[in-house]
Amino acid sequence: MQNQLNTFRGYTFPVSPLQKLKLPIFTNAGIELFVKRDDLLDPLISGNKWRKLKYNLIEMDQLGKKGIATFGGAFSNHLHAVAAAGQRFDFPTVGIVRGEMPIELSPTLKQCKEMGMNLYFVSRAAYRLKEESDEVQQVLTSCNDFFLVAEGGANEWGERGCSEIWREIEPSIDYLCVACGTGTTLKGLVKGSRSHVQLVGFPVLKGMDECPPLTDQDCKLMADYHFGGYAKHTTQLLNFIRDFEEKTRLPLEQVYTGKMMFGICDLVSKDYFPKGSKIVVLHTGGLQGRSPLI
Ligand SMILES: *Cc1c(COP(=O)(O)O)cnc(C)c1O
Repeated sequence: MQNQLNTFRGYTFPVSPLQKLKLPIFTNAGIELFVKRDDLLDPLISGNKWRKLKYNLIEMDQLGKKGIATFGGAFSNHLHAVAAAGQRFDFPTVGIVRGEMPIELSPTLKQCKEMGMNLYFVSRAAYRLKEESDEVQQVLTSCNDFFLVAEGGANEWGERGCSEIWREIEPSIDYLCVACGTGTTLKGLVKGSRSHVQLVGFPVLKGMDECPPLTDQDCKLMADYHFGGYAKHTTQLLNFIRDFEEKTRLPLEQVYTGKMMFGICDLVSKDYFPKGSKIVVLHTGGLQGRSPLI
């Protein structure tokens, strides 16, 4: 495995705490459930977006680039994390946003702007093509010396940062659960994987019942908990989150971690996890996008 770097411009990357969750449904099923609190890695650059940014930041400096240009939608935790990192470490950031500029910016984009990110809106067609579209190319000419990071931090540096989560988890666990969007976090975890640990992914996108480069041996994907797809949710989901938060004091949100936790509780109720199992659930953060409806 490659060397682990632990600092960026004098800043030491933090380690997140592991917290046991005690709930009757877990005790009754004879399982132990721990939450890896990556949502606590940083107040602003939280969760797996921090993990994914780590080596992208290091790479930016190594290549002598002066800032980061990247892609995202109006509710992107990734854009938010990049903007926050730019503000924290004093480098310029550019966000190329999917779709026409709305009359009112989403709370996420508003904060990105406040943190100093330059936002450029491109048509959905151009967004789909990314660097291959003229529209996006035009934006990129105005950020010449920038390091270009894929949407969601979905690149090899992103995976590398996520593979390091294993170093912070004790070897005796049986399952590691994670919510999936681009699948980068899961791919990173597969790379650094310990063979006896079963990885369980919870895709939040409809129809993502297989991440292309992953096989059934690498991980199990639970395709039934997307609640209609990315950015979609139901009253049942919001009620679940409210109830779960009240019982555990663990904050969730409706895009990723709430769906995953719903899925885990549903699987527990169906005796999916054998008695005696030790399960670690990765809290990937995203709380900046928590709905006021919860
Ligand atoms: C982005 C995000 C994910 C998905 O991560 P991928 O690496 O794209 O699969 C999961 N949870 C939260 C909270 C996120 O913000």
